[in-house]
Amino acid sequence: MKKILLLVLGIVLITMLFATIFFTSPRSISKKNESKIMVIVTIPPQAEFVERVGGERVQVIVMVPPGFSPHTYEPKPSQLKEVEEAEIYFAMGSGIDFEIAWLNKLREINRAMLIVNCSEGIQRIDRDPHVWLSPRNAKIIVNNVYKTLVQVDPANKEYYRENLGAYLQELDDLDGEIKTLFSNVTNRIFIVYHPSWGYFARDYGLIQIPIEREGKEPTAASIAALIEQAKRLNIKVVVVSPQFNVKSAKVIADEIGGKIIFVDPLAKDYISNLRSVASKLSEAMSQK
Ligand code: ZN
Repeated sequence: MKKILLLVLGIVLITMLFATIFFTSPRSISKKNESKIMVIVTIPPQAEFVERVGGERVQVIVMVPPGFSPHTYEPKPSQLKEVEEAEIYFAMGSGIDFEIAWLNKLREINRAMLIVNCSEGIQRIDRDPHVWLSPRNAKIIVNNVYKTLVQVDPANKEYYRENLGAYLQELDDLDGEIKTLFSNVTNRIFIVYHPSWGYFARDYGLIQIPIEREGKEPTAASIAALIEQAKRLNIKVVVVSPQFNVKSAKVIADEIGGKIIFVDPLAKDYISNLRSVASKLSEAMSQK
């Protein structure tokens, strides 16, 4: 009798124990409830730069969303509200039209916001704002991001430094890969609708010839002249980006028997995008 009682008691206790384990929701691992640093950037590739250095310490908002051109975009009222809340604005600082038109107004909206010039230290090509499209420039940009985050949040300096180191390594690897990809390309000239690739071309010994002239659609005469030039130089590649009209590019590619390459200078996944741009472009330029 005593044994049975003990057995029953034992079963009851074990059941209760399991029930307790099973039904008690596991305590979530307590996250440091520090609020994130709210950061604004102008274009999507900068979001990768800031997120890779800032990690979980930053919340990044992009002003010019995917699919829009930083040469023409105007912010929505909801975005101006976000600017009111931001602690840092990482400006590209290279003369992007959006920043020329809006940065002073955004400063008026939030006078406490720290505005940082990401291009500080980059060797500039006259009137070319597309500084981010060179991994070597990207290294300078992320260093500027790092310095700013340490200045704003010195307590997490070690964390930022580790993140920076890892990302710089990836950029170095990317730079090496691109160099290798273009090392055996003999005809190093390509046509491009919008001349975004000046820094990229400079770093890897290429030449871009733009279809668009000073931000405007080409005239019939300038298209004809370009076709003539392309035939003379045996150019076989025409580069276009999703932000622009490709009709004239198509006409030129047809006339020279060339290939159109679609590339996005504004993709957020910077490293993988540049890797794919380089591989597509070098492959097309290597075709005989
Ligand atoms: Zn552009």
